[in-house]
Amino acid sequence: MNEKKGTEKIAELEKLLKEQQQNARLLVRRDLELSRANEKLQEFDEIKSNFISVVAHQLRTPLSGIKWTLNMLLNGDLGPLNNDQKTFLIKSYESNNRMITLINDMLDTDRIQSGKMHYGFRYINIIDLLDNVLFEISPEATKRNISIEFKRKLENLPQVYIDPETMRAVFQNLLENAIKYTIEGGKIILDAEQVKNMLQISINDNGIGIPEDQKKKVFERFFRGRNAILRETDGSGLGLYIAKTIVEKNGGIIWFESKENNGTTFYFTVPIKIEDVKKN
Ligand code: ADP
Repeated sequence: MNEKKGTEKIAELEKLLKEQQQNARLLVRRDLELSRANEKLQEFDEIKSNFISVVAHQLRTPLSGIKWTLNMLLNGDLGPLNNDQKTFLIKSYESNNRMITLINDMLDTDRIQSGKMHYGFRYINIIDLLDNVLFEISPEATKRNISIEFKRKLENLPQVYIDPETMRAVFQNLLENAIKYTIEGGKIILDAEQVKNMLQISINDNGIGIPEDQKKKVFERFFRGRNAILRETDGSGLGLYIAKTIVEKNGGIIWFESKENNGTTFYFTVPIKIEDVKKN
C-alpha cells in the first residue's frame, strides 16, 4: 500500500516538474517575443522621428522664404502699400510665423524625446540674451498695446552657466505666452534676483491666468487651458513642456503662480558662475 502511494507521489512530482519545464520554456519564448517587439517598436520610433524631422525641415524652408518675402513687402522694399494691402500682409506674416513656431515646437519635442537635443554649456551674461529676445518680441507687444518693463536695473547680473541656444527658446516662449494671454493694454514685468547659487528670472503678466483645476497639467505635452483656447485658437501646447525639459537640463527649475482673470508669474532658475556666487 505504502509503495503504491510512493509511486503515485513520484508520478505526481514528475508531472509537476514537466509542467514547470513547459512553463519555463513558454516564459523564455515570451521573453524573446517581447524583446523582438521592443526592437520593432524602437525601429518604428526611429522611422517616426526621421519622418517628423524630414517633413518639418522641408516645411520650414519654404516658410522661411515666405517670411523673408513678406518682410520685404511690409518694409516697402518692393514699393509702397496702401492700408488694406498692409493689413492683409500683416495677417499673412503672422499666420506664417505661427506655422514656423509650430514646426519648431514639433522638432524640439521630437529632439527631446529621441534624446537628440544638444546642449552647449558656457558662461554668459544673461542680460544680452534677455535683451535680444525682448528686441525681437517688442513689436508684438506694442501692437497689442502691452508694456514690458524691468522691475529693477539688470545690468549687474552675475554670469550664468547655461546653453544660450536652448535657454533663449525658454525665455522667448514665456514672454510670447505672457503677451498672448494678456488682454490689450496689459502689463508685463520682468525681474531677476540671485537666490543662493541660482539666478531666478520671473515674468509676470496681468492676463487671463490659469484655471485652478487645470494647473497640474500646465507642463504636460499638448495641454492648452480652456480660457487660452477661447482667446488664442492657435497653439501647440508644447511650449511649456519644452521649456521645463530645457530648464531642468540647464540645471534649473521652473514653476508658476497664477490666478484666473488676474494674471500669471512664471519663474525659472539658472546656475550662476561659481566665482560670481562667492562675490555676491
Ligand atoms: P500654447 O501657448 O501653444 O497653448 P504652451 O505649452 O506654451 O502652449 O502653454 C500651455 C498652456 O498654458 C496655454 O495653452 C495656457 O493655457 C497656459 N499658459 C501658459 N502661459 C500662460 C500665461 N502667461 N497666462 C495664462 N495662461 C498661460
